[in-house]
Amino acid sequence: MSSLRFNAIDKASLHKAIAIDLPDQRPDQYYGCYVFNRQKMRQYLPAPTYDALIDAIDNKKTLSREIADSVAEGMKRWAIDNGARHYTHWFHPLTDGTAEKHDAFIQHGADGTIVEEFTGKLLVQQEPDASSFPNGGIRNTFEARGYSAWDISSPAFILDKTLCIPTIFISYTGESLDYKTPLLRALNSVDKAAAGVARYFDPKVKHVHSYLGWEQEYFLVDEALYSARPDLVLTGRTLMGHESAKNQQLEDHYFGAIPSRVEAFMLDLETECHKLGIPAKTRHNEVAPNQFELAPIFEETNLANDHNLLLMSLMHEVARRHNFRVLLHEKPFAGINGSGKHNNWSLGTDRGVLLFAPGKTATDNLQFITFITNVMAAVHRHNALLKASIASATNAHRLGANEAPPAIISIFLGSYLRNVLERIETNDTEAWLNFSDKKGMRLDVDQIPEILVDNTDRNRTSPFAFTGNRFEFRAVGSSANCASAMIALNAAVADQLNQFKADVDARLEAGESLNQALLAEIRSLLAQCKDINFDGNGYSDEWKEEAARRGLDCEISVPRMFDAYLQPSSVEMFGRTGVLSKVELRARNEVKWEVYTKKVQIEARVLGDLAVNHIIPVAVRYRNILADNVLKLRALFPGKKGEELTTADTETIERISTHTATINEQAELMVEARKKANRIVDEREKAIAYHDTVIPPMEVIRYHIDKLEGMVDDRMWPLPKYRELLFIR
Ligand code: ADP
Ligand code: MG
Repeated sequence: MSSLRFNAIDKASLHKAIAIDLPDQRPDQYYGCYVFNRQKMRQYLPAPTYDALIDAIDNKKTLSREIADSVAEGMKRWAIDNGARHYTHWFHPLTDGTAEKHDAFIQHGADGTIVEEFTGKLLVQQEPDASSFPNGGIRNTFEARGYSAWDISSPAFILDKTLCIPTIFISYTGESLDYKTPLLRALNSVDKAAAGVARYFDPKVKHVHSYLGWEQEYFLVDEALYSARPDLVLTGRTLMGHESAKNQQLEDHYFGAIPSRVEAFMLDLETECHKLGIPAKTRHNEVAPNQFELAPIFEETNLANDHNLLLMSLMHEVARRHNFRVLLHEKPFAGINGSGKHNNWSLGTDRGVLLFAPGKTATDNLQFITFITNVMAAVHRHNALLKASIASATNAHRLGANEAPPAIISIFLGSYLRNVLERIETNDTEAWLNFSDKKGMRLDVDQIPEILVDNTDRNRTSPFAFTGNRFEFRAVGSSANCASAMIALNAAVADQLNQFKADVDARLEAGESLNQALLAEIRSLLAQCKDINFDGNGYSDEWKEEAARRGLDCEISVPRMFDAYLQPSSVEMFGRTGVLSKVELRARNEVKWEVYTKKVQIEARVLGDLAVNHIIPVAVRYRNILADNVLKLRALFPGKKGEELTTADTETIERISTHTATINEQAELMVEARKKANRIVDEREKAIAYHDTVIPPMEVIRYHIDKLEGMVDDRMWPLPKYRELLFIR
């Protein structure tokens, strides 16, 4: 009898919704109360300091040392007034999540007393011991030190009585060791490139912002049941588990009523979000049982990403208060949908125009077509890179699994926009060029707004879909740092826009009109990149064949997908935009391969343990009970009758034996494969060996364990089953 499992079930059934102490105030009164936002800056900083800081933030300038000291003083006073006693630089190393090291605001005073201290120097830069963070060999070859440096564009905040200062993290020699540094570089580069092109249409444009609205999917599991599943605790997903008789086939969970325990969790989480200035807005049930989604109002990409990272750590914390564990893994349960994090992405000018939104006038629409076409060209050229940017050991379980985008990057435009672009590409009559002529406008371009406003044309199977005024990059995984995708996408689009501008400028110099030049370049781009458009069913086998014919990247092995970062088109693009140097790209890939290997290695170990120590002993015990039974029945009913009475049992005994034998054999094979792979020095080769030789026996083992789960006495089964894990009461 498995006491662990049944104790967990008993304990889980005691967990009820806890009453939430909502703040007495209205949301606008506590919204952002833990953020050092402009309002707090004005209150706590001397006027000249405030002006200098805002100028530096808005116009991307560096702060003088005096101003930094003055900001630090005000920030410290605000933090202490709000209960903080420590401060930390908060950064995003190349692992999952964030890193922080807390220091108290104290210093020895002159007379042996303790005084509160926080200086500009401490605010601006620190030297965390970088040696334990992944760096892909950069630190070994150069210097052991790493620096964290203040990112003034993302406001400081208080979390758990600690003032958190968003920072970048770089090596002594300036190579990035984090996600934020290249993200800021990519955003800078797309700002300059897109503003250059946007000025063809509005010369007053100074800056273009990149916007991100992520949609975070997640699962909740009762804490007691979670603790009884070593695979969930150690790997974030179930490595075994037979499908529940009921799962998502009735589709009754999507947008269904939210269970009260979950609703209490959500309310608590949203309140925490709002206090930290994260504009959490939408919540709903997802398709799979126990699966939910939270989406905020979109924000500037760097801030939106900080907010997503902050949200992910808040989720873990708040979930525990409600006796839940939150699963951010892309595929915690086999047989039901996994979790993604759709990245809604757009570009907008500082004049308030969204560049992927069709406008009211012909000029607006030419601008719209210009930007859409350049995005298509960038995604086409760098489709393998974009896939690599969302690839990970965990997301691999979700991609191509017929509920998430396939492992091929294509763009869904919808039939109307696709038709418009086709006509632009083929139609070379003068009417197209004559945009000041009402008739010319009506030809097509003028109709775009009316039809696109009705944005019902949806395709769930597309990894990158146009959705009215933005693109939705759907292939991003639920546990990912969005920066990875946003770095690749913004940099690729920046590079494409720079090229486009150079080509258009050359035509202008040769005497062409602006419209002529733009349309000529748009047509030529469309001719080159239209293969990236695919509006059909991305799950079908025909698409896989068709995509290969079109030359789109069809690689399905994650360690090999990472190669895309080092192919010449990527290295050159990242070099031209100044987003990542070749040294950085190489180092990052080392980290990616290493992390891939380690994740699979941990899973393989946990699976081996569970199979050999938990499952097989239980199966053998059950088999012995059956065998005893057979012997006793045959003694009681000698001859034919005894045989008849025991046929079912002897068959089960045989089947159990086959399953346990296969599990044992495959477990040995898996250990051998691991040993062999561990001897490989090259990180890429090692990751490939894990992918090719360790994962296949893992899948076989799981198959046989799941079969045993369906045969062995339920009371003996040691692990909480899917039907217990997946339905919160
Ligand atoms: P759906 O599930 O229909 O895709 P949601 O409301 O769940 O839509 O999420 C849409 C997300 O897209 C939200 O975060 C929203 O703020 C964001 N979004 C809306 N417009 C833009 C835009 N122009 N740029 C970036 N994100 C956007
Ligand atoms: Mg969506």
